[in-house]
Amino acid sequence: MSADELIYSGKAKTLYSTAREGELLMEFRDDITAFDGGKKDILPGKGYCNCCVTAFLFGLLEREGIRTQLIGKIDATHLLVRSLQMIPIEVIVRNRAAGSFVRRYPFREGDTLKPPVCELNLKDDSRHDPMLNEDITVALGLATKLELREMRSIALRVNRVLSAHLERLGIVLADFKCEFGRFRGELLLGDEISMDSMRLWDALDRKSLDKDVYRYAKGDVMEVYRSVARRITSGSCG
Ligand code: 5GP
Repeated sequence: MSADELIYSGKAKTLYSTAREGELLMEFRDDITAFDGGKKDILPGKGYCNCCVTAFLFGLLEREGIRTQLIGKIDATHLLVRSLQMIPIEVIVRNRAAGSFVRRYPFREGDTLKPPVCELNLKDDSRHDPMLNEDITVALGLATKLELREMRSIALRVNRVLSAHLERLGIVLADFKCEFGRFRGELLLGDEISMDSMRLWDALDRKSLDKDVYRYAKGDVMEVYRSVARRITSGSCG
């Protein structure tokens, strides 16, 4: 598969056109950023881990009937994906209070949120991803009320599938971020689901197994990424 024209380059991934209409090549780079791009580094092997975990988890979700952008894995750092019209909204599902949630609301870190909390944020680093509600989303023309309802419902289904899979491995899915896009009249799960976009805790000691290790300098980021990628994929990554 030859990568063609560069379509979009984000903080950790690049999209290229392909010879096939409606299909793109998604490259996972070794760049890692945090705090709206305020902290950045290059960690060799990180693109490989996130590509592998995203392919595995999207495959798992597809088998559970959740439609995703993934067509197939091309090599260690590239996925073949459907070309979506992305909706610039970050849908966050929280099972445990952590991160920005405990900074904004009177919860304690680790509090269980039952039912899970679903949050919508505008994808806009320059504004620090402000929170949206239905009226603001519709006023901005980002999505219809129907699409919002569907995104929320799919995100909660994704949460159930991922939480169950991770729980069996002794990992708590504290929260995660997902993104959606339109493809031929359908709403599909897009972007990635990886250690960059999930908050994962070891069920035994609540040790961070995700990008918080990088954000808050909690240890060797690549050692954690490699070992959790192996754990999530039963050894097929790493
Ligand atoms: P928080 O709002 O607590 O900072 O983040 C909640 C969850 O969403 C965390 O798992 C975090 O990794 C994910 N998340 C929030 N914003 C972003 C983002 O801009 N990019 C990625 N990859 N994940 C994000």
